[in-house]
Amino acid sequence: MNNRIYSPAITKEIINKHKFKFSKSLGQNFLIDGNIIDSICTKAEIKTEDEVLEVGPGIGTLTQELCKRAGKVIAIELDKGLLPILDETLAEYKNVEIVQGDVLKIDLHSLFKDKFSQGRIKVVANLPYYITTPIVMKFLEERLNIDKIVVMVQKEVAQRMTASPGNKDYGALSVAVQYYSQADIILDVPSSVFMPRPNVDSAVIMLNVYDKPRIEVKNEKLLFSIVKAAFGKRRKTLLNALSSSNLNMTKDSLKKALNMCNIDPVRRGETLTIKEFVALSDYIHEL
Ligand code: SAM
Repeated sequence: MNNRIYSPAITKEIINKHKFKFSKSLGQNFLIDGNIIDSICTKAEIKTEDEVLEVGPGIGTLTQELCKRAGKVIAIELDKGLLPILDETLAEYKNVEIVQGDVLKIDLHSLFKDKFSQGRIKVVANLPYYITTPIVMKFLEERLNIDKIVVMVQKEVAQRMTASPGNKDYGALSVAVQYYSQADIILDVPSSVFMPRPNVDSAVIMLNVYDKPRIEVKNEKLLFSIVKAAFGKRRKTLLNALSSSNLNMTKDSLKKALNMCNIDPVRRGETLTIKEFVALSDYIHEL
């Protein structure tokens, strides 16, 4: 098949031909708009020397454009029912390989070693929304050799991932994502570009992944326990939120730690920058 398949008519034709049934529980909302697909690939600056990982190719709508622009595309798809469709829609591209499986269960380090060369790869996808956060956190926490993650997500998740201190959307997810990457919303996307239409708004985020975290912390586990505790009780002051958490520190020693880090104990967690969380974590780690 030579045609690009992003039009509603061709998408319908393909799914009818294969008697494919959309699975809501697998987050199957396929893109039907060529402009959005082009924008995603252009913003991701995909060049012929790039190697790209896609999660959830669906019927291959975004995959086709990735294949045209990149040197190599590996796409992980869970739904076995889509494999015969992908065989057909991607038949003319020799630089693509579909890996059937669950992205959350696959050993990504082995996959990268087997399928990619040594360069930093790009992750580009229209993610299944029921597992957006675990997928993004898996890519970041496993410290894979990733340059950029350019993905479609629910708008509300995009806002939380990119929020700054003081913003109502700023929380543990913002800190976690921004600890590993520079995170920006690059495109707002209406539900009309999907088939079927999801009942939430969408946005494309770009995460430029740091080679190593921008701010080194002595104990990452402790950092994220503090962040979790600080946001666990959003209405409480930092001192009260941390002292009622499982950090096992007395109120007095917490107060001293906060003062030593120049953080007013009556501030709320949502006002702290990542740098301040790191300073507090490093101080507590040394106690
Ligand atoms: N890329 C296609 C597009 O834009 O038209 C489809 C995107 S659709 C939002 C999400 C895709 O992820 C579906 O094809 C779905 O089957 C697949 N998927 C769902 N859960 C998955 C998982 N755990 N691992 C890999 N793929 C998954």
